[in-house]
Amino acid sequence: VTLRIDGVLIVPMDGPPSSPLGEVRPGSIRIEGERIAAVGELPPSPGESRLDGSGLVALPGFVQGHVHLCQTLFRGLADDLPLLPWLRQRIWPLEAAHDEASLRASADLAFAELLRGGTTTVQAIETVHGTEQAFLAAQACGVTAVIGNCLMDLGESGAPACLVQGRQAALGECEALRRAFDRQGRLHYAVSPRFVLSVSEGLARDAADFAAEHGLRVHTHACEHPDEIATVRERLGRDYIEVLQLQRLLGPRTGLAHCVHTKPSERAILKATGCAVLHCPSANQKLGSGIAPVAEYVASGLRVALGADGAPCNNRLSLLTELRAAALQQAMIAGPGAWPAAQALHAATRGGALALGIDDAGCLVPGMRADLVLADLDRLGVGPGGPLASRIVYSADESCLRHVYAGGRHVVRDGVLQLDEAGIVAEAGRQLEALLTRAGLAA
Ligand SMILES: [Zn+2]
Repeated sequence: VTLRIDGVLIVPMDGPPSSPLGEVRPGSIRIEGERIAAVGELPPSPGESRLDGSGLVALPGFVQGHVHLCQTLFRGLADDLPLLPWLRQRIWPLEAAHDEASLRASADLAFAELLRGGTTTVQAIETVHGTEQAFLAAQACGVTAVIGNCLMDLGESGAPACLVQGRQAALGECEALRRAFDRQGRLHYAVSPRFVLSVSEGLARDAADFAAEHGLRVHTHACEHPDEIATVRERLGRDYIEVLQLQRLLGPRTGLAHCVHTKPSERAILKATGCAVLHCPSANQKLGSGIAPVAEYVASGLRVALGADGAPCNNRLSLLTELRAAALQQAMIAGPGAWPAAQALHAATRGGALALGIDDAGCLVPGMRADLVLADLDRLGVGPGGPLASRIVYSADESCLRHVYAGGRHVVRDGVLQLDEAGIVAEAGRQLEALLTRAGLAA
């Protein structure tokens, strides 16, 4: 299937760090199947269909480097708590009550929301069991997804018994998911230890070896909240990043969510090992964790992606919300201009894709995945003037997104999600009710 999108202002996001938007110019975009075939002044070609994009700005689909699809059902159920009580009192008991149907409903709800908000590439840590449901949901809706089952073999942090898995069972689950889904089209498998306090040193090292053996990505949390960091130091006698390094979990295929509080020595390890930082500004703000020094990370050469984290700690899964929060927070801690809007937009697109090790997404050039957002920026609250990056980062919201393509699939058309939105929302409601009954939390 060939489609030509005409009349758009193309923001390719393929420029150097000094001007990441690349050469912004009016033109057309041709999509063939799942890929961008051509960009620029394109003559009509026979048999292709056409979308009139007059007045719209074409951007690459957004990338979110850190979410929890399985927590989307729990939006609003764990508010107003810091990290460790948030996990122990709310998230773990709720995750423990999931079954296959509720996991699928949660992932479907998340993907519908993500696609509606222009996010076409996602990296997710799921719960201990049933992660195939997240892969199946991703397969069905067109996103590019990097997904992992979370590894937890220590119960002493207060996790329910059914979320604590023996080392062999955990590795068996990793291998089954890797075989079934890794590098199947748009799907990738990532080895995903939950965080230092829930994974034994033995399992962490086995997981690192497994990832190295198969060339897999590693996705985990690190240095999120001061209390968590203090507990790691107390229990293991070392700094957080140092622990992960000794467990051999760090390297260029590793993405670390948060990295809010890191010492200079830990930053040196991040840089030396080439890890990517997955920055979740709204979640860090809501859980009172702090503000990650992202401007400094980027200036030191680290790759950075943005992410909403889970619905219960945000409570949105909107990349545009994260973009604005990220840019405002850096102005607060590093000064206005330390991380300009154009650089934030890079983290949301090409930079985010590269942080996840996905080199064929995040920019509008031929050969890339046909992941596109067509935005209307000539509307109330977003103009009338100002640089494009400023309008997108500081002003735009999801009502600006007119069309979204994920791998060439038209998933948002004229502002309307092309999935069964009402059915997905209704099923999520039914599954939440059943889950709360299983958890003993029904009203
Ligand atoms: Zn997280």
